[in-house]
Amino acid sequence: MIDLETVRLTYYPAKILTLKAQEVEVFDDNLREFVDRMFDMMVEHNGIGLAAPQANVSLRLFMVSLDGTRENTTVFINPKLDLSGPMECNEEGCLSFPSMYTKVRRYRDCIVTAQDVHGKTFSGKAEAGLYSRCVQHEYDHIEGITLANRMGQAARIMNRRLLKKLEEQHTL
Ligand SMILES: [Zn+2]
Repeated sequence: MIDLETVRLTYYPAKILTLKAQEVEVFDDNLREFVDRMFDMMVEHNGIGLAAPQANVSLRLFMVSLDGTRENTTVFINPKLDLSGPMECNEEGCLSFPSMYTKVRRYRDCIVTAQDVHGKTFSGKAEAGLYSRCVQHEYDHIEGITLANRMGQAARIMNRRLLKKLEEQHTL
């Protein structure tokens, strides 16, 4: 049972962002209500993707909406990725790292197999571009990997002040 009272946007360096998330086993109204809260959170913060650990829930679930609208949002539950193609480097942001952007290397192509909010399995191909990158970024979140782990040393130095500020603001 997901405690909807605890749902909130989590920021680096929250511990939940570093944990490998748990499989979703129950596809009930509680789960769908949680997904609904995630929609609101993503749209409110102008995000194009959001993973459950960013909503303070350690489950293998994320959503992507390239235009930031509810209608075009796809929810991926218990996803498996099949990555291929060359690696490409491009700039990424993350709602858990406000106003930080850093270059990340990702696979170009990505086939995702996942379950929807009713537990039905579906498969989709994200070839090249932003969609593939976004799916890989969100998948990282359910593996406990964030931009802080993906950035190179130069980027870490460049973003040092911003990371420190986040650490001060969000460490209890
Ligand atoms: Zn993110």
